[in-house]
Amino acid sequence: MIGANIQKINQEIGSNVRLIAVSKTKPVEALLEAYQAGQKLFGENKVQELVVKYESLPKDIEWHFIGHLQSNKIKYIAPIVSLIHSVDSLKLLQTINKEGQKINRIIPCLLQIFIASEETKFGLNQNELCVIIEEWKKGNLANIEMKGLMGMASNVNDTNQIEKEFTILKILYDETKAKYFSDIDSFNELSMGMSGDYAIAIKAGSTLVRVGSSIFGSR
Ligand SMILES: *Cc1c(COP(=O)(O)O)cnc(C)c1O
Repeated sequence: MIGANIQKINQEIGSNVRLIAVSKTKPVEALLEAYQAGQKLFGENKVQELVVKYESLPKDIEWHFIGHLQSNKIKYIAPIVSLIHSVDSLKLLQTINKEGQKINRIIPCLLQIFIASEETKFGLNQNELCVIIEEWKKGNLANIEMKGLMGMASNVNDTNQIEKEFTILKILYDETKAKYFSDIDSFNELSMGMSGDYAIAIKAGSTLVRVGSSIFGSR
């Protein structure tokens, strides 16, 4: 089932978008099944769980951290994470930078933008985004690679609202790229779309979709 789900989703999303299999709460056996079907990108939202799965699975897997990240836990994922999607404060980014310095690694990060109507979701506003990028531009965050932006739409049935939120994020991404990264090719990822809304996200310009339950079943 898991392999067939991955194949089906890959056909839908096309070759310009990458699929992250969100495997949080799922056992290692389920991830191995996905891996054997060719899946190499996995997303986790808990540090401890990511580390345990990293240790027990093949080393050519790319691990993406997609959850709310606590500063004191960064050190555990700093050496092994391929991309942190969920940077939601300057303070957090400064700590990631410090952990990167300690192990002499440049850590790829996305800045998470608040686009939903729900207060429960994390993320930066436009002003906070500018402050962080200007800090990075000054050279004070040399162990951070700025890869792009991430966002989560509201958990609603209204597809117009979801489309609107993703479009706002895409416009912000384009503006940010033009203003700060026109000469920096590595700023090229827009992480948006989950099981319920990845088709809408891709239409709006997503490059990375984070899909869990449509691959592994409900949690
Ligand atoms: C759990 C989670 C997903 C995947 O959600 P599904 O609805 O199961 O596809 C995507 N992004 C984040 C940040 C998540 O926490």
